[in-house]
Amino acid sequence: MSVVGYFEAIPQKTGTELRNAIFPDGCGNIPAGVFLFMEYFCTDLNCNCQRVIIKVLHPKSESDPHPPDVATFSYTWSPGEDDVWRKTNAECSNPFLDPFHKQSSYAPDLLEFWTDMVERDKGYAQRLKTHYRELREKLGTSERHAPAFDPSSFDVPANRAERRRLRKSRPGKYSVR
Ligand SMILES: [Zn+2]
Repeated sequence: MSVVGYFEAIPQKTGTELRNAIFPDGCGNIPAGVFLFMEYFCTDLNCNCQRVIIKVLHPKSESDPHPPDVATFSYTWSPGEDDVWRKTNAECSNPFLDPFHKQSSYAPDLLEFWTDMVERDKGYAQRLKTHYRELREKLGTSERHAPAFDPSSFDVPANRAERRRLRKSRPGKYSVR
């Protein structure tokens, strides 16, 4: 699964379509400040995951060039759509905190906040789907992108069913560029 940052690929939308939240006094365990909800999508056109990975950045100031990421979660708006993901989707909560990323102590609170937001704000929920489609139209590829140290990149099974089985066994693995 190859994953690309929407606002890295289409930076001109950052000013208008990047969701953020500001907590002037914090919110429960969430500290005060600004939180940016960066979006990452799979660009493998063989995959129909209909999933977004949200990486939450917490800039220390308006000009912070390297804001730390404080939570990463994974969400699908259509859990039954893709054969490879269906089993994972049945076993995982949706959305879930991504186990391949370090999470801050208040990541569960951010996840709860975001889940409420995406359920209530239909415009935002729709925008995520639009971004998924838009990014895949721009950068989607049917070729398999094996990460540099993926052992299967040296031994790619010829058979499609076997490739899908392998992908299924590592559902959370992806690279962010
Ligand atoms: Zn996918």
